[in-house]
Amino acid sequence: MRYQKPKGTADILPEESLIWQFIEKTAQEVFSTYRFSEIRTPIFEQYELFQRSSGETSDIVSKEMYDFVDKGDRKMALRPEGTAGVVRAYVENKLFAPEYVKPYKVWYKGPMFRYERPQSGRQRQFHQIGVEAFGSNSPELDADVIAMAINFLAKFEITNYKLAINSLGDKQTREAYHQALVDYLTPFEDSLSDDSKRRLHENPLRILDSKDPDDQKIVAGAPSILDYLTDDSKEHFDRVIKSLDDLNINYEIDSNMVRGLDYYNHTIFEVMVSDPAFGNKETTVIAGGRYNGLVEELGGPETPGFGFGMGIERLILLINQQIKEEIADDGLDVFVTTIGQSASEKSLVILNQLRQAGLKADRDYLDKKVKGQFKMADNLQAKFVVTIGEDELVNQQVQLKNMATGEQMHVSFDELVSKVLELKRG
Ligand code: ATP
Ligand code: MG
Repeated sequence: MRYQKPKGTADILPEESLIWQFIEKTAQEVFSTYRFSEIRTPIFEQYELFQRSSGETSDIVSKEMYDFVDKGDRKMALRPEGTAGVVRAYVENKLFAPEYVKPYKVWYKGPMFRYERPQSGRQRQFHQIGVEAFGSNSPELDADVIAMAINFLAKFEITNYKLAINSLGDKQTREAYHQALVDYLTPFEDSLSDDSKRRLHENPLRILDSKDPDDQKIVAGAPSILDYLTDDSKEHFDRVIKSLDDLNINYEIDSNMVRGLDYYNHTIFEVMVSDPAFGNKETTVIAGGRYNGLVEELGGPETPGFGFGMGIERLILLINQQIKEEIADDGLDVFVTTIGQSASEKSLVILNQLRQAGLKADRDYLDKKVKGQFKMADNLQAKFVVTIGEDELVNQQVQLKNMATGEQMHVSFDELVSKVLELKRG
């Protein structure tokens, strides 16, 4: 019996985990400059939470959910996205910040699960980094958070993106537009895909998002939601656009863009990149928007919200080789070679001291000959090699070799750490 990883999952091997660590560190750094703090919520939640927030007819809930009944007969689901859990935590922990620190801003990272057909940039277990800001309805906040997404991508030299934005308006907008859309689509009903025929009755807005080429032709002539914005919604959207202009951020207004999740209103956006990694097809890396009403929907007080989610696997596909090489591990500081059992024992004590000083240090554990130990030091790109033999033990010192200069010296056991630190500083 040979075991294989589940379909649609990936092992992130040590070499690759460097880029993951770099991305997570960059997120932490960039987001904290915008006053976002990290929140960590469970990987599974009550099924109903997702059903409620994403919407029963969303693809996520109707087709992609990893749901299960636990041993206590509770219906649970692995989280398909991050916002629902964060909103649940916000309500449950009463994180309703006092007025003077609103909006309450958090970010998260971690695995998400969707039962999808795996392909490049589409997995069943994938990872997102996302942000949520609670408690402000300001259009400037929308623009600020969008700018943060763009500035984050810039840290990876991803500047060839397309930022698509749209407004879904408020409830009144949606109702008026819903009717106009149904009136427009109904004469085409027979030509729509089966999925869209169903959507026409359940949630016609979703038809705008159809990937079916024939649906897309029909949708191209559909009325624009922007013509149905109420005065308030229009003002909100105009102010978002004004702020993006002020920040010199290029965008394209795409009035046919809707999001797959039911909770959005007002501003929605996607950052798309076309890259050979995606067969030069435009692919969404970051997506988000405003979700006023969701906190209430999940049992909290009326609280506006704005956030986005970013797919890490897709981001990694876009990061160029040069950056990946720059963050590559730069090797060991010190390799300790030994001759004889006593030296081998002493080396453990010395290694312990080196590591406590923050130096990366290691040795051989396979009883290699001296030549083999030096070869290992070389392979691990050790900057310094320490040698301990019988003479060194007697004299309480080591031989220290600077591998960059070839320079060798004797250093006492007691002074080794400070000497290495000094030489490393250069
Ligand atoms: P798509 O239309 O590609 O299915 P989506 O609308 O379902 O995307 P969102 O729910 O908005 O995606 O998730 C935000 C981001 O998470 C996406 O833009 C993408 O980068 C990433 N993402 C979503 N689903 C997957 C997946 N199955 N595998 C890898 N990344 C994903
Ligand atoms: Mg999807």
